Amino acid sequence: MCPTDHSSVCTFDCPDTCALTVSVEDGRIASVRGNEASPSSEGVICNKVARLMPELVHGKSRLLYPLRRVGPKGSGAFERISWDTALDLVHAGLSKTIERFGPQSVLPLNYAGPHGMVQGESMSARFFHKLGASQLFRRSLCGAVRAEAWAGLFGTAPGCPPELCADADLNVVWGNNATVANLHVVRRIRQAIRKVGKLIVIDPLRTKIAEQAHLHLAPRPSTDVVLAFALAVAFERLGALDARFIAENVLGFDEYMERARAFPPETAEAVCGVPAADILRCAQMMIDAQRLVIAPGNGWERGRNGGSGVRAAYALPALLGKMGKGSGIVAAAGNAFPKTGAPLTRPDLAPPGTRTLNIVDVGRHLAEDGIDPPIRAVVIYNHNPIVVHPDQNQMRKGLARDDVFAVGIDISMTESMAHCDVVLPASTHFEYADIYAAYGHHWLQRAEPVIPPQGESLPNTEIFRRLAARFGYAEECFKATDADLMDAAVDASSPRMGGKRGSAIPLDRPTQMLGSDDKPLVLFDNIRPGTPSGKIELKSETLAARWGAHALLPEFRPADTRFPLALISPASDKRISSTFGGLAGAAEATPLLMHPDDATTRGLQDGAEVKVWNDLGEVFLPLHVTDAVRRGVVSSLKGAWLASARNGQTISALASATQRADLALGACFNDTPVDVCAA
Ligand code: SF4
Repeated sequence: MCPTDHSSVCTFDCPDTCALTVSVEDGRIASVRGNEASPSSEGVICNKVARLMPELVHGKSRLLYPLRRVGPKGSGAFERISWDTALDLVHAGLSKTIERFGPQSVLPLNYAGPHGMVQGESMSARFFHKLGASQLFRRSLCGAVRAEAWAGLFGTAPGCPPELCADADLNVVWGNNATVANLHVVRRIRQAIRKVGKLIVIDPLRTKIAEQAHLHLAPRPSTDVVLAFALAVAFERLGALDARFIAENVLGFDEYMERARAFPPETAEAVCGVPAADILRCAQMMIDAQRLVIAPGNGWERGRNGGSGVRAAYALPALLGKMGKGSGIVAAAGNAFPKTGAPLTRPDLAPPGTRTLNIVDVGRHLAEDGIDPPIRAVVIYNHNPIVVHPDQNQMRKGLARDDVFAVGIDISMTESMAHCDVVLPASTHFEYADIYAAYGHHWLQRAEPVIPPQGESLPNTEIFRRLAARFGYAEECFKATDADLMDAAVDASSPRMGGKRGSAIPLDRPTQMLGSDDKPLVLFDNIRPGTPSGKIELKSETLAARWGAHALLPEFRPADTRFPLALISPASDKRISSTFGGLAGAAEATPLLMHPDDATTRGLQDGAEVKVWNDLGEVFLPLHVTDAVRRGVVSSLKGAWLASARNGQTISALASATQRADLALGACFNDTPVDVCAA
């Protein structure tokens, strides 16, 4: 049969949320490419999705039937069972746990596998709320630090759309390995450069985009706050502060500058390892640019000073009065969409006083039993905790306990699934309908299934509908269809929806979120900060109330460690977090990058196997000696599965679950103290 083309959307944990064209032949995915009709993704997608999606959907690691574990946890020994048996087992396992320890001993352990608003978290949340299970503060694993930093300065407003990069005189790519993890920003920056725009990249690594930059600053991890302070001091010295804009639109300027003045460029050089002359050059380029766009990434905030770094950097355009009129910060795109979380997830169903656990603590809670009631049942979905959580060894120990009943829902047999008692097969996003906001652009999309559910797999919504029925939950909200859930996910009365319900937005083209003037949403053009003061809050009482007095203003905390190197773990060009990690094309261990001086000090040769270690674990990796990484920093790509490692530990084993960022109790993956020696 001839292949037929269908529109779809990429749902992976990536800011670009690309529009796809999927060729289907004989009911199978034949190929996946960019959808030309999308003004956002412009027909371009990343190589990994184009190359690996057919195998992810139809390959041998795809889960097609419910399974019951028949060997030790982690062994991967399962037998096929029917859905009825599987639901009975889940019902019996959770009920027994609740009988003995109470409902809060059950924990949904989920994160951001698929990003669809309905399949990501809707019926599942309703189910766990009704069950009275412990709730999870998830965002601390990844997005909370930068989201809170943004919320402190700009409140509920979105940042500018990435389209602004294309016309900027100067793009500043800060902590963003954009070529790998923010593809469409790179395309737009290239357009700007062709029109004589300049590019600054700030990153401890000389990434691919840094190679194209007019200026590359490589600060030590978690010193971005000092670099930003030094730039603010340079603006002041050079008489570039926009006093009128600051007086009218900024709160906390004096307090911010008082902190900043402790770190002039000459002092910052010693802290950040960036020459003062380069800091001054960077400041001058920012001053000279009429249209200044900052395109920050996702990851540079995962360090001890992560929140302060983001806040101090986001303040810089405001100090120069460069907000609106072509200037802005490409961030917080999620705020552009009129999402309605409560009707979708129904937190009102949860018993009053239900506890909330921080996702970063879950490995410890499972392994050590330090909370009352203890966690004695987990339901893992949209998540691969063994690979992606900090302190991997602790998480694995916790999930290996025979007295923890574990249910897994996934599309692939991951190493986390291998630790579950019952595994339920989930459908991929090509097999269900959903709507998609994005965290990297302002276009809302909807997709219908392009192939039927494979094997006996089911969408998450249907799995939790059936579970709710098995538990006897009779409320109407557990009978909602996926279309009902799409309608509950967004506010149809918002002017940004153009009068359409979530389930009725067009399939053939994305819907752009626009301001009241029908133009793209840009702060100070057609929207204002959504803070309590209505101004940009460099000093944030909101953050201080949420996270403690230290969060009133950005601050620098020096490193306190006996280990000489800082490990960072950027995104891979073969995986999205751990997704694809079980496929042949993405399964190998990635090398450890080390500066030649650090290698010489340790007598290490390029190509040798080395041991990266600290008090939490040890990881064996091939060494790549290169000056692409700065002295004192080593780098290895995140998301490798345990099977890629000779001792079953990957770099998440080295990241601490107790070291936290200065906002939102966020995990610190990119500021991990380690040392390296010959293997
Ligand atoms: S992973 Fe990102 S860049 Fe690749 S197709 Fe999906 S949304 Fe696009």
